[in-house]
Amino acid sequence: MTSVSTTTPGADWEYAPAPESRQIVTIQREYGLFIGGESVPPASGEHFTTLNPASEEPLASVAQAGEADVGRAVASAREAFETSWGRLPGRERAKYLYRIARAVQERAREFAVLESLDNGKPIKESRDVDVPLAAAHFFYHAGWADKLGYAGFGPDPRPVGVAGQVIPWNFPLLMAAWKLAPALATGNTCVLKPAETTPLTALLLAEVIAEAGLPPGTVNVITGDGRTGAGLVGHPGIDKVAFTGSTEVGKQIQQTVAGTGKRLTLELGGKAANVIFDDAPIDQAVEGVVNGIFFNQGHVCCAGSRLLLQESVADAVLDRLKRRLATLRLGDPLDKNTDIGAINSRQQLDKIEGLVAAGEAEGAQRWSPPCQLPARGYWFPPTVFSGVSQSHKIAREEIFGPVLSVLTFRTPEEAVAKANNTPYGLSAGIWTEKGSRILWMAGRLRAGVVWANTYNRFDPASPFGGYQESGFGREGGRAGLAAYLDA
Ligand code: NDP
Repeated sequence: MTSVSTTTPGADWEYAPAPESRQIVTIQREYGLFIGGESVPPASGEHFTTLNPASEEPLASVAQAGEADVGRAVASAREAFETSWGRLPGRERAKYLYRIARAVQERAREFAVLESLDNGKPIKESRDVDVPLAAAHFFYHAGWADKLGYAGFGPDPRPVGVAGQVIPWNFPLLMAAWKLAPALATGNTCVLKPAETTPLTALLLAEVIAEAGLPPGTVNVITGDGRTGAGLVGHPGIDKVAFTGSTEVGKQIQQTVAGTGKRLTLELGGKAANVIFDDAPIDQAVEGVVNGIFFNQGHVCCAGSRLLLQESVADAVLDRLKRRLATLRLGDPLDKNTDIGAINSRQQLDKIEGLVAAGEAEGAQRWSPPCQLPARGYWFPPTVFSGVSQSHKIAREEIFGPVLSVLTFRTPEEAVAKANNTPYGLSAGIWTEKGSRILWMAGRLRAGVVWANTYNRFDPASPFGGYQESGFGREGGRAGLAAYLDA
């Protein structure tokens, strides 16, 4: 498969194919569960297939953890907490975390290729964002492990115990790192459930963790579908639940956990506003818009999916945005020049198509650059809706795809009111040359993260999390440690 530019086929300046080799990755035909430091067959006897969404080619058969498997994983994490990992001093835990971080760096190409194969994201994103950030999370938290007594949680903060962690498919390795690194640094043990459509990099990380010599049972990875996730969060043997995913499932989990005494953090959906004022540097802002909504095919909880343009520059910004979108290259995720990869699953593609149809039916104007979609696999072209009003479904619901809804405003007050007119509250972006306006806006936007003159920047030292239906609790930074400590 080759990447195709979204410009007219046959136009000058076509790129030559630049495929990353997949030889570096050995994918097993069948995977077991990672419990007690080794790969074990599922007691359920069931397996499912994980696909390459860019080609629909089956990649591997993966174990479906049933109730007995969840119980085994939780028991193994409990034992490690009581007898080994939970008793190690912070400086010892740090050594293991550094080891994992270095191994992720050493095997970075392998992780990146595997991530792009299983998820469909462009190799330049898995190579330059997902994998380096995953390593950075382990490095960062390794640094905290022996300094917890100085972090403001009292002189001797204790770990919570066994953490049950459920993650989504949009950043499979990175979300695993976001969950595991702080939990391990603070002395907890873990049972991690990756998403059904993207289990492979979590299983490769399990291999790295085994090679790093962590006491068996410190980290357990149980693959499976939503039933496995529900079994894990409902298991009486865990002390803390950490979930990233949809608001709908987050609410179910909150109900399950209510009254059990388990600690809970939820990182859920978003419908972020990216606000461009008339004094913003327009070309820079357009790059920020592209990065905000077309990065990772828009499968990003903090994606800037609502573009708010000040009316006086709306036409000019839209014009430049369309010109820029016509240069994006959609196609083979393993091609190093690809900007837009595949949609992660048939189910997600159906959801995007349904919401886009609703946008058209409600009267918004749909636009995409000329774009040839590959014949096989799950694909959706970069899409912009203009003439969107706040009541439109595409302005209210999380599409989780490469689809941007454009609204306009006249005054800063109107921008704040429109940006905050959402049940979510995860992130926002502000584009203006005035520092005072940035501070004025940031103080009024109800969002956990506000970026100014940039978008989608992540750092392990910076806490990430939301308000309202975007969840609660923070991941990253000193604040992220609190979720895993009994202080
Ligand atoms: P889910 O919230 O269903 O999935 C997230 C994780 O939870 C997966 O590991 C999933 O397993 C698991 N899970 C599913 N049901 C349960 C349950 N009842 N109890 C515990 N765990 C469960 O997201 P989807 O993948 O189904 O995506 C649906 C929509 O959610 C997307 O279209 C998008 O809008 C939004 N979403 C938002 C994300 C975010 O970061 N904000 C991330 C992912 C999705 P399995 O993979 O087997 O379903």
